Amino acid sequence: MPEGPSVKKFSLLASPFVGQVVAKVGGSSKRINLQNLKELRFQDCQVHGKNLFLAFGSDEREIVMSQHPERGQEETALEEVMGTGRDGITLSKIKGQEPKLPSTDNQQQEAQESNYLEPAEDPWKWLHFHFWLFGSIRANEFARARSANKRGDWKDPVPRLVLHFDGGGFLAFYNCRMAWCSGPTIKPTCDILSVQFHQGQALEALCQPRPVCCILLDQRYFSGLGNIIKNEILYMAKIHPLSQGSHLKLENVESLLNHALRFSSNWLHNKLQGKRLHYQIYMKEVCPLGHRVLKESLGPPRGLKRLTWWCPECQFLYT
Ligand SMILES: [Zn+2]
Repeated sequence: MPEGPSVKKFSLLASPFVGQVVAKVGGSSKRINLQNLKELRFQDCQVHGKNLFLAFGSDEREIVMSQHPERGQEETALEEVMGTGRDGITLSKIKGQEPKLPSTDNQQQEAQESNYLEPAEDPWKWLHFHFWLFGSIRANEFARARSANKRGDWKDPVPRLVLHFDGGGFLAFYNCRMAWCSGPTIKPTCDILSVQFHQGQALEALCQPRPVCCILLDQRYFSGLGNIIKNEILYMAKIHPLSQGSHLKLENVESLLNHALRFSSNWLHNKLQGKRLHYQIYMKEVCPLGHRVLKESLGPPRGLKRLTWWCPECQFLYT
């Protein structure tokens, strides 16, 4: 399943199309009536953990990027990750969208007033995307077959949804589930890539009397954290995946959380620069120190078990 940094990258591919109107719709999805998207304006794009939310609707609501409070925070977070600030290249410039600045006092007042004018009913429809195991988004290109199928045909993957915009570009969505919803419901305080991530709440969650490998994958506390991040940060913090959270020392818990935040933002940074991530333990036979790595499916007794890699020499079991 694409983890937080991958979905964040998908949102960066989609964001430049915010403000454009859907001119044509294609794709294989039968789950929603794709034609309902036609002629709607793409109004907003938000990522929460492993979930992407796109808003479509009429022009009743103001969409000036620089005046959208939630977008402002999102931009700041991404700028931090990308090492750019207000004086550097801002996200809106990367997206080719200059913030609209009112030129006269009158216009400025109008713009400020419109900021507070919220319609009685939200005119936007939100489409929630979940990317299964191998879902992805392409901008202005289609995915191509990487190998031949069993019959020897080179068949390109079929997109679930293709949105052609009035600006001439398009977005293609692959291997994803789509559903209409009333809007993003996941709190940014539990999103590991959000500037609003609540570290105190996360530290408390990590001290629960459960195996730490299960706590880390609990999306109620660590939205966006997936199996790769889990394996890598447990190795970096030198903690055995079956250690009970309640038996960890405060310094262990703090180290684990720091690794989670640093690893996730580094991963996103690498993705944005087109670099691949080098894993230390995930899917490895030996650890960086040359010890033999163990692999087992671990999880709650009745819950989903996930393949876990760990080094019995480097990682300590706290019981
Ligand atoms: Zn080792």
